[in-house]
Amino acid sequence: MRLSRKNTLFFSGLAGLVILALLLIGLYAFRHGYVTAAQSQAEMAAEIVRIHLTEAMLHGAIDKRGRFLERLQAVKGLETVRIARGPELIAQYGPGQEGSQPLDVVERQVIDSGRPYFGLVEGTDDNLFRATIPYKAGKDASSDCLTCHKVKNGSVLGAISLSLSVTEQRRETAWTIGSIVLVISFFALAAALLSQRTALSLIATAEQVHEAVDKATRGNYGGRIDIQRNDELGEITAGVNRLLAHLSKGLGAISDKVARLIRYDLPPSDNLLDTTATMVDCLEEVSLFKQAIEEDETTEEIYHRLSRVLHEEFLIDHFSIYEVDPGKNHMAPAIIDGIPGSACRWCDPEILQRADACRAKRTGHPVDSGQMTDICTSFAACGELPGCRHVCIPIIQSGAVGGVVQLVTDQAQASLLYKMQPFIQVYLRESAPVLESKRLMASLRASTLTDPMTGLHNRRFLQEYSDTLTSYTHRRQSQFAVLMADLDYFKQVNDTYGHEAGDAVLKQLAKILKESVRSSDLVIRYGGEEFLLILRDTAREAADATAEKIRVAVENQKIQIAGTVINKTISIGVAIYPEDSGTFWQVVKYADVALYKAKEAGRNQILHFQPEMWEGQGAY
Ligand code: GH3
Ligand code: MG
Ligand code: MG
Repeated sequence: MRLSRKNTLFFSGLAGLVILALLLIGLYAFRHGYVTAAQSQAEMAAEIVRIHLTEAMLHGAIDKRGRFLERLQAVKGLETVRIARGPELIAQYGPGQEGSQPLDVVERQVIDSGRPYFGLVEGTDDNLFRATIPYKAGKDASSDCLTCHKVKNGSVLGAISLSLSVTEQRRETAWTIGSIVLVISFFALAAALLSQRTALSLIATAEQVHEAVDKATRGNYGGRIDIQRNDELGEITAGVNRLLAHLSKGLGAISDKVARLIRYDLPPSDNLLDTTATMVDCLEEVSLFKQAIEEDETTEEIYHRLSRVLHEEFLIDHFSIYEVDPGKNHMAPAIIDGIPGSACRWCDPEILQRADACRAKRTGHPVDSGQMTDICTSFAACGELPGCRHVCIPIIQSGAVGGVVQLVTDQAQASLLYKMQPFIQVYLRESAPVLESKRLMASLRASTLTDPMTGLHNRRFLQEYSDTLTSYTHRRQSQFAVLMADLDYFKQVNDTYGHEAGDAVLKQLAKILKESVRSSDLVIRYGGEEFLLILRDTAREAADATAEKIRVAVENQKIQIAGTVINKTISIGVAIYPEDSGTFWQVVKYADVALYKAKEAGRNQILHFQPEMWEGQGAY
């Protein structure tokens, strides 16, 4: 039940009860009031009659009592007066005049019992009060009944019956009590109305507070309460209004700042508190995400983390992340639908060779199929997601598009995607500089580990990689071959054709070496024209065979330099890890020793390391 209804019921009930109680009290007082007054009058009149009779007896004028009673009846308000003799009096003096005997049951009972009777006479037009009072034999200072009456002291001699009109008393009592009841009822009603009015303004305020608080819990602090009164209630109301205004202003400011921070356009009707909380949550998660990706080692790890965010936080199952090759118009899929390095699924593979075919890459701003159908001609098909929606968001790095994230959802999730997009963009914006710096770091590092002229790894790379290589080999209980190769009489090339011609020879040699081994093998430019090859999982015979293959390939290669064609040969020393030594650098040394021996033996040949070669190394 509403408070206002409760209040009305309470105050009208209270007023009703007060009036009812007053009426009951009034009725009781009314009846009690005039009956008591009539009883006193009757007692007084009876006493007068009794005194008169006693005096008449003493002075021998008892016979005149009839006239006395007649005159008495003329007194205003006294309707009838009668005297009835009791049995003892009748026994002493006889029945007396007519009508001197008890007339009715009441008189007889009063004479028998000696107790007075008082009562209203029902059924008469006039309101009459009847009193029948016994008079008893007794003596006092001025008279002694027992001198005349031969009865015991205290015997009932007779009864005096009187009837009094109480109409006047009734009217007066009724008027007095009625006036009192009316006045008090009026004040009770007035008090109830006043209290009701006070309570109503309290209730109106309470209802408005309830409404404002309800709104506030829904994130809207715009509710205000009318100031109804200029008292404590008014002060509380003003205080609540100030608090709401303060919260509204404060939250609005926070919300605006956070929205600006994550570049989110706040919808005006949104729940400000919830939206702010969501934005702050997003900021916190993004901050943790950023911390994590900054500590990640490679861009692959970052893409993987980003893919988990898309999948686990934004519940997107279908998405692609493309990496744009800077400088070239190429793109490569980093992750497709959560799987690293998968082939293009949602787009025409043409975008890989011609990155500008991707609309998001070309324009540098998000492309949303929800805004216009067929917005990107490179989007292949929805496949098993009929009516799908795709949003492609470019990752901007140093003003250029460094990558593209493509989100694909079914129709049911499309509106959710629209809501999540700003938050996903926050992740992408935060990832962009980290991805860029990791990419730069990777290419910088690659350049320090690569020989710029041949594009082969350099000796520094070997130093960094050797531990990984040996532990990998141990784990697999495998082996690898180290080939140390050196061109024969290379100095002559430089001397005859110049240094640039020499460089060209080295580049061609690098190419031959690369092509002669498996992609899992390593070719390293170890020194000026010395090359070191690591053939993984390769035993002695296979190593010798590969070395021979290289030797033959070099020998047969017609090298074109400075307008002429020359032939060069190569000598190769071979050693096996861990067969020849369990120490990597010792194996390298052994391969070098074998190479030296091959040179010594006439060049253009392969020699496998033999322990004797090392024994004689004093000469070396
Ligand atoms: P050998 O058969 O004994 O190996 O005779 P060689 O002439 O090849 O002698 P050696 O291996 O000692 O020669 C090394 C020469 O390679 C010396 C140096 O001028 C040349 N060289 C080293 N690095 C480069 C390079 O980057 N470019 C050019 N053009 N020449 C280089
Ligand atoms: Mg050399
Ligand atoms: Mg040489």
